[in-house]
Amino acid sequence: MIDNNKQFLSQQLLWIGISLGISLAISFLLPFPLSLPVIIVVFILLSYYIRNRAMKKMGMAGSVFGGNGSSVSYYCMSCGTKHNQSSCPKCGSKMKRVGS
Ligand SMILES: [Zn+2]
Repeated sequence: MIDNNKQFLSQQLLWIGISLGISLAISFLLPFPLSLPVIIVVFILLSYYIRNRAMKKMGMAGSVFGGNGSSVSYYCMSCGTKHNQSSCPKCGSKMKRVGS
């Protein structure tokens, strides 16, 4: 967990550096009153992008810890109930097949 936090922190620092570089580049390219709204828009877009990336990573981690991937489901061989347990919650049969 500590390593994950460190990685997260260094990634945050990297993103801060990238956004600072972008804002510097914009302020060089555009005169001051024009550059300000552009920098704000870029910051908002970047923060949305970073949040989406973090959400995707958390989702991936969740599926890894959950065991079975969300794309694979199991169906009971005797009653056809969709479940991801070792035995069917409806009829208790341990026979199951993989479906999508
Ligand atoms: Zn069943």
